Amino acid sequence: MDCLFCKIVRGEIQVPRIAEDELGLAFPDINPGAPVHVLVVPKEHIATLPDAAARPELIGRLHALAVKVARDKGLEQSGYRTAFNVGKDGGQHVFHLHLHLLGGRPLGWPPG
Ligand code: AMP
Ligand code: ZN
Repeated sequence: MDCLFCKIVRGEIQVPRIAEDELGLAFPDINPGAPVHVLVVPKEHIATLPDAAARPELIGRLHALAVKVARDKGLEQSGYRTAFNVGKDGGQHVFHLHLHLLGGRPLGWPPG
Protein backbone atom coordinates (compact mmCIF):
# COMPACT_ATOMS: atom_id res chain seq x y z
CA MET A 1 0.00 0.00 0.00
CA ASP A 2 1.49 3.33 -1.12
CA CYS A 3 0.67 5.11 2.11
CA LEU A 4 3.10 7.09 4.27
CA PHE A 5 2.03 5.58 7.58
CA CYS A 6 1.85 2.03 6.14
CA LYS A 7 5.49 2.51 5.10
CA ILE A 8 6.34 3.61 8.64
CA VAL A 9 4.51 0.59 10.11
CA ARG A 10 6.42 -1.74 7.75
CA GLY A 11 9.74 -0.08 8.64
CA GLU A 12 10.35 1.16 5.07
CA ILE A 13 10.52 4.66 6.53
CA GLN A 14 12.39 4.54 9.80
CA VAL A 15 11.08 6.39 12.82
CA PRO A 16 11.61 5.99 16.56
CA ARG A 17 9.09 3.31 17.53
CA ILE A 18 7.99 4.69 20.89
CA ALA A 19 5.56 1.88 21.67
CA GLU A 20 3.78 -0.82 19.78
CA ASP A 21 1.68 -3.89 20.15
CA GLU A 22 0.16 -6.25 17.62
CA LEU A 23 -2.48 -3.69 16.59
CA GLY A 24 -0.86 -0.28 16.86
CA LEU A 25 2.35 1.75 16.64
CA ALA A 26 3.26 5.05 18.33
CA PHE A 27 5.91 7.36 16.83
CA PRO A 28 6.79 11.05 17.12
CA ASP A 29 5.01 13.58 14.94
CA ILE A 30 7.60 15.02 12.54
CA ASN A 31 6.23 18.55 13.06
CA PRO A 32 5.39 18.64 16.76
CA GLY A 33 2.73 21.03 17.95
CA ALA A 34 3.62 20.57 21.62
CA PRO A 35 6.61 19.32 23.64
CA VAL A 36 5.08 15.85 23.39
CA HIS A 37 3.35 15.10 20.08
CA VAL A 38 3.01 11.44 19.27
CA LEU A 39 0.91 9.69 16.63
CA VAL A 40 -0.70 6.33 17.37
CA VAL A 41 -1.70 4.43 14.24
CA PRO A 42 -3.28 1.06 13.54
CA LYS A 43 -0.87 -1.36 11.86
CA GLU A 44 -3.48 -2.13 9.24
CA HIS A 45 -4.49 0.50 6.73
CA ILE A 46 -7.69 2.22 7.82
CA ALA A 47 -8.17 5.61 6.16
CA THR A 48 -10.21 7.58 8.65
CA LEU A 49 -12.33 7.32 11.78
CA PRO A 50 -15.68 6.44 10.12
CA ASP A 51 -13.95 3.46 8.50
CA ALA A 52 -13.10 2.24 12.01
CA ALA A 53 -16.57 2.72 13.46
CA ALA A 54 -17.30 -0.99 13.25
CA ARG A 55 -14.04 -1.68 15.13
CA PRO A 56 -14.59 -0.22 18.62
CA GLU A 57 -12.04 -2.63 20.09
CA LEU A 58 -9.36 -1.30 17.75
CA ILE A 59 -10.23 2.33 18.53
CA GLY A 60 -10.06 1.53 22.24
CA ARG A 61 -6.73 -0.24 21.88
CA LEU A 62 -5.21 2.78 20.11
CA HIS A 63 -6.31 4.94 23.04
CA ALA A 64 -4.87 2.45 25.52
CA LEU A 65 -1.52 2.69 23.70
CA ALA A 66 -1.73 6.49 23.86
CA VAL A 67 -2.38 6.30 27.62
CA LYS A 68 0.70 4.11 28.04
CA VAL A 69 2.86 6.56 26.05
CA ALA A 70 1.46 9.51 28.03
CA ARG A 71 2.34 7.73 31.26
CA ASP A 72 5.83 6.89 30.01
CA LYS A 73 6.32 10.55 28.98
CA GLY A 74 5.36 11.70 32.49
CA LEU A 75 2.13 13.40 31.45
CA GLU A 76 -0.16 11.59 33.86
CA GLN A 77 -0.34 14.42 36.42
CA SER A 78 -0.30 17.39 34.04
CA GLY A 79 -2.77 15.92 31.57
CA TYR A 80 -2.76 15.83 27.79
CA ARG A 81 -5.06 15.58 24.80
CA THR A 82 -5.86 12.82 22.34
CA ALA A 83 -7.58 13.64 19.06
CA PHE A 84 -8.54 12.13 15.74
CA ASN A 85 -8.76 14.71 12.99
CA VAL A 86 -11.47 13.63 10.55
CA GLY A 87 -11.77 14.82 6.97
CA LYS A 88 -11.33 18.30 5.50
CA ASP A 89 -12.83 20.48 8.21
CA GLY A 90 -11.29 18.27 10.86
CA GLY A 91 -7.85 19.02 9.46
CA GLN A 92 -6.96 15.47 8.41
CA HIS A 93 -4.08 15.46 5.94
CA VAL A 94 -2.83 11.88 6.11
CA PHE A 95 -5.49 9.32 5.27
CA HIS A 96 -4.22 6.53 7.46
CA LEU A 97 -6.01 6.76 10.80
CA HIS A 98 -3.87 8.36 13.51
CA LEU A 99 -4.57 9.40 17.06
CA HIS A 100 -2.70 12.56 18.07
CA LEU A 101 -1.31 12.61 21.62
CA LEU A 102 -0.34 16.15 22.65
CA GLY A 103 1.02 17.34 25.96
CA GLY A 104 3.75 19.08 27.86
CA ARG A 105 2.12 22.52 27.80
CA PRO A 106 -1.37 23.90 28.48
CA LEU A 107 -3.49 23.25 25.38
CA GLY A 108 -6.05 25.83 24.30
CA TRP A 109 -9.69 24.98 23.77
CA PRO A 110 -11.36 24.98 21.35
CA PRO A 111 -8.55 24.25 18.88
CA GLY A 112 -8.24 26.59 15.89
P1 AMP B 1 -3.35 15.17 10.31
O1 AMP B 1 -3.16 16.60 9.85
O2 AMP B 1 -4.31 15.01 11.45
O3 AMP B 1 -3.67 14.25 9.15
O4 AMP B 1 -1.97 14.72 10.92
C1 AMP B 1 -0.92 14.27 10.14
C2 AMP B 1 0.30 14.44 10.99
O5 AMP B 1 1.33 13.63 10.43
C3 AMP B 1 0.84 15.87 11.02
O6 AMP B 1 0.83 16.34 12.36
C4 AMP B 1 2.24 15.74 10.44
O7 AMP B 1 3.18 16.58 11.09
C5 AMP B 1 2.54 14.27 10.66
N1 AMP B 1 3.49 13.68 9.74
C6 AMP B 1 3.56 13.83 8.39
N2 AMP B 1 4.58 13.11 7.89
C7 AMP B 1 5.16 12.47 8.93
C8 AMP B 1 6.26 11.58 9.06
N3 AMP B 1 6.98 11.17 8.00
N4 AMP B 1 6.60 11.14 10.30
C9 AMP B 1 5.89 11.55 11.38
N5 AMP B 1 4.83 12.38 11.32
C10 AMP B 1 4.48 12.85 10.11
ZN1 ZN C 1 -1.81 3.23 5.41
